[in-house]
Amino acid sequence: MAYLITGGTLIDGTGAEPVAGSLAMDEERIVATGAAADLWAEGRAGVARIDATGATVMPGLIDAHCHITFDEPFSTTELFFHRREGLSALVAAYNARKVLRAGVTGILDADCVYSTSIDLRDAIEAGVAEGPRIACGGNALFTSVGGTAGMLIPDEGRLGYSKVTAGRDEIVQEVRRQIKGGVDWIKVHVTGLVPRQREAGEIQVWTLDEMKAVVETAHDLNIPVVGHCRNASSTRDAAKAGFDMILHATFMDEEALEAVVEAKVPLVPSLTFQQVLADYGHKVGANRTFQKIFEREIIDSSVMLSRAWREGVPMLAGSESGFSITPYGEWHWRELQVFMEHLGMTAMEAIHCATGASGRSLGLAGEVGTLEADKLADVIVVRGDVAKDVTLLGVQDNIRHVFKGGRAVDLETPLAERRSIPGWRVANYSTAPLTRATAFGEG
Ligand SMILES: [Zn+2]
Repeated sequence: MAYLITGGTLIDGTGAEPVAGSLAMDEERIVATGAAADLWAEGRAGVARIDATGATVMPGLIDAHCHITFDEPFSTTELFFHRREGLSALVAAYNARKVLRAGVTGILDADCVYSTSIDLRDAIEAGVAEGPRIACGGNALFTSVGGTAGMLIPDEGRLGYSKVTAGRDEIVQEVRRQIKGGVDWIKVHVTGLVPRQREAGEIQVWTLDEMKAVVETAHDLNIPVVGHCRNASSTRDAAKAGFDMILHATFMDEEALEAVVEAKVPLVPSLTFQQVLADYGHKVGANRTFQKIFEREIIDSSVMLSRAWREGVPMLAGSESGFSITPYGEWHWRELQVFMEHLGMTAMEAIHCATGASGRSLGLAGEVGTLEADKLADVIVVRGDVAKDVTLLGVQDNIRHVFKGGRAVDLETPLAERRSIPGWRVANYSTAPLTRATAFGEG
């Protein structure tokens, strides 16, 4: 089936201002926009017409930080000790449909439990499961100091989404093993929280040499490296070591900023998690101290992130979806608003971060994320003028059409109602998922 979408406002994802006009796509790719689209469709058989009057036609969102296999855990304990491999993959396939229906046609899932993201990605690509395009990593590489999971990270071996490595030999072996297994990215947890040093926030737990060992091994096999860096020195060293993307990059100092600007390494601040927790955490019983810490992280990091972006560092939108605070399909759009409010972007600039700039996170730079002829037809039609109000993307009813690779996604048939799985949940992060209904509703 080919489509001609008429009457809408086109946001092309390049950062350019919106224009009125049509968009034509065939079974896989965008054929043309504007008058050329109308001309192409004229008199052609088998072209379905969609009236997008009063709506915005734009590239599907790309979420460069989405944990599709975590299934909204209420605590790390739940994620590390209460999950089963096969069931995790099945549940991830269920959640992937929620993400796609929210208008997100691509995600980078940098680390996963077991190797379930790899399985889900391949299932989606083979057409046996439905979901966004996925680029994925395997287990995140840790040193035995740990990461955000604190004492739950083992001294050695594999648990949850982590694989602890010690020394160059183990690093090289694990990177090669994961690449053989089919990962698109290698993820390194460069910072970790040491309980005794809590006041310092997360500290760097990898040396520059160890990080270089990861990069050399991965790059030799044509695979990029992404780092979780939530302090200044880790961000600086990740840039120096040749990392291809940095998640968070919060708390940068001048030195870190300089290294990031020099390397032009894309950053994925992923402040949505902090923002929604700070804004609405009290509605789901979140810990007040956590809320305060996360609120500070946004305030303390915005100036440097904004400077980096202004000096030409690509900024990608990531939501950190996959936790009870950031359930699937709910908050993927929220980073756009954060970029506008805290980094000083215009709506078109923020949308570019979540579309045109983000193809690289999927390994599809220049292939997706923009409404241009010959690009993959990942397109959404959103009720209202998104250029004037990006929060329109956050209302499910506004998502009128989603196309992935030119194929229309069924938004009408409700997903099967989900019931609880024995032994799956252990409450902790909050007492309920922080959905938009909870956030914006009464109480
Ligand atoms: Zn994350």
